[in-house]
Amino acid sequence: MNRKTLVAAILGLALLAAAPLFTSNSYYIHMIGTIMIYAILLYGLDIVVGYTGQVSLGHAGLFGVGSYTAGVLFMKFGAPLWVIIPASIAVTAAFGALLALPALRVTGPYLAMVTLAFGTIIQILINEMTFLTEGPLGITIPKPSLFGEKLSEHGFYWLTFGLMVLSLIVVHRILRSQLGRAFEALRGSPVASDCMGVSVYRYKVYAFVISAGFAGLAGCLYAYSEQYISPNTYNFELTVLFLLAVIMGGRKTRSGALLGAAIIVILPKLLDDLELFRMVAVALAVLMTVGGAIGVVRKITTVKAMVIPVVGTIALAGFAFWLKSITDWRLSIFGLMILFVVYYLQNGIVGFVRALFHVRKVVPSSAELARADDGKDAISVAASAGASETGGDLLIAKGVLMQFGGLKAINQVDLRIKRGSIHGLIGPNGSGKSTMMNVLTGIYVPTAGSIDFAGQTVVGRTSSDIALSGIARTFQNVQLFGEMTALQNVQVGLHHTFNSNIVDVALHTPRYRREEHSAVERGMGLLRFVGLSDLATEEARNLPYGKQRLLEIARALALDPQLLLLDEPAAGLTAPDIKELIAIIRKIRDHGITVILIEHHMDVVMNLCDTVSVLDFGQKIAEGKPADVQADEKVIEAYLGGTVA
Ligand code: ADP
Ligand code: MG
Repeated sequence: MNRKTLVAAILGLALLAAAPLFTSNSYYIHMIGTIMIYAILLYGLDIVVGYTGQVSLGHAGLFGVGSYTAGVLFMKFGAPLWVIIPASIAVTAAFGALLALPALRVTGPYLAMVTLAFGTIIQILINEMTFLTEGPLGITIPKPSLFGEKLSEHGFYWLTFGLMVLSLIVVHRILRSQLGRAFEALRGSPVASDCMGVSVYRYKVYAFVISAGFAGLAGCLYAYSEQYISPNTYNFELTVLFLLAVIMGGRKTRSGALLGAAIIVILPKLLDDLELFRMVAVALAVLMTVGGAIGVVRKITTVKAMVIPVVGTIALAGFAFWLKSITDWRLSIFGLMILFVVYYLQNGIVGFVRALFHVRKVVPSSAELARADDGKDAISVAASAGASETGGDLLIAKGVLMQFGGLKAINQVDLRIKRGSIHGLIGPNGSGKSTMMNVLTGIYVPTAGSIDFAGQTVVGRTSSDIALSGIARTFQNVQLFGEMTALQNVQVGLHHTFNSNIVDVALHTPRYRREEHSAVERGMGLLRFVGLSDLATEEARNLPYGKQRLLEIARALALDPQLLLLDEPAAGLTAPDIKELIAIIRKIRDHGITVILIEHHMDVVMNLCDTVSVLDFGQKIAEGKPADVQADEKVIEAYLGGTVA
């Protein structure tokens, strides 16, 4: 966070803390309190929706679990606040693990359906389990006591505020840490996450569990805030509102969550009062016009794109003055406004404002980057250690068969990869080269055959497990984490260097600081190694194609692999870039890392490889020194017309 945003955030929070001093109207205090409670839930929901890119329509259910944990513990045992808060968090987090189960199997609309069912089932359970929850009658809970004294309206407001700020800090720290990077990586490319040793399975569950923990805290505070809970609060409408709040406020921002919470609490109330609605409509029209104008001047958007939203908001203002009564129109207007934001401001309101003022994500400070950018060898010593055991085979594949339906994409292939060598894998398109890599990295389980890597079998293990045991790879179709910076991409590869847990991350313990510092340093070193250190803070998706390929190599090296698989690294590269690439691959080998290289550029293969294997229709048709293979008749025939392309 840069200094300006930090100052703005602190000022905003100070204002929020001081709010009860400005008004004694308990209606407003209760309303702001509710916004803060929703914000806590939205911080958590954003982890699932904004970062890991999953849908959850189950969060109203989780919110209900939090409320009812508090309600039941109070009603049955008269439990105090300091027991109820952690219990609500823990119980709801456990339910979060349940909610994660479907997310491990399905995505997109299916996941939306399943999570929706989850929420509905929770509501039904609350309704039916009368012996525990009193069913539709609901539970009454007084404001809690703290240090032997019952909290006043103001006291409870400040408690909520304190917990909201605490949640904000904890969420922020989680999302900035290796955990947050793992969540974001899932969204960017699940396959690549797994191949970087970040188990998609595990981190999806973590994300849902952590997210649910915050929903539990929010639900618990909500129960105290309302002093009465009943099952019908936690309904479908609320869950949709939560999701909309994240989208409207803007995903991946904490201020967006707070803003989204404010919108879903305040907007329905504003729409109750015609005078207020008129003011809001005029304010919106002015904001949209000014915002649109700035956008056009700064060339972020075009006049054409801005016409409809600007005219739309002005028309809304006109409509507001034409209306005699608002009651009939409430829902339609609410729906329209939401549709508008979702359609036109796809990054939410905060995202739009950020784009207007060009607020860039600053990951580590530039000074820190500069410091990290000198000295030290990027590729770790651990990898070079392998170099001493030269000779022998690092990887032995025997009789590998990979069948897709009737197609034998790989047919009885044997491979022996010598430790410390660069082993070329060539063949016409569709001959099974990429499939071989997918088999070696656990993406596919071979139909038959055995694969031995450094004395361990590969077949049947998960991709992330195989990655952690020392096989790193790049992808033929680049699989970067697009919304993350170049440095963050490499840091995902460095995930295995972290021992810090969530407590270390939340408290910023010395262990976490040390690990994070070294991840920045090593990340920068690896970027420098592939010549990308100047682009460290650029989002991966904005890099030119050739640079993206280099970034994938840097990310793969972050795993400290013994074996590096490169799938057509030169594809799409310019001639000077290819020269650079050859030098880089050679340096990688000199560090003792064994390389399997799939490549169509024959000059690259001839230049680098110690041994070349040739595949055709899934079968190995030749193997040997590059020059011999190139002269082999079967190979020439396979490459139609004899031009080895
Ligand atoms: P190469 O990388 O050598 O160009 P591939 O390994 O990508 O070739 O593909 C080899 C063959 O396997 C192709 O015929 C391709 O269509 C087929 N194939 C690859 N992956 C799958 C899959 N998941 N399902 C079905 N067929 C596949
Ligand atoms: Mg391929």
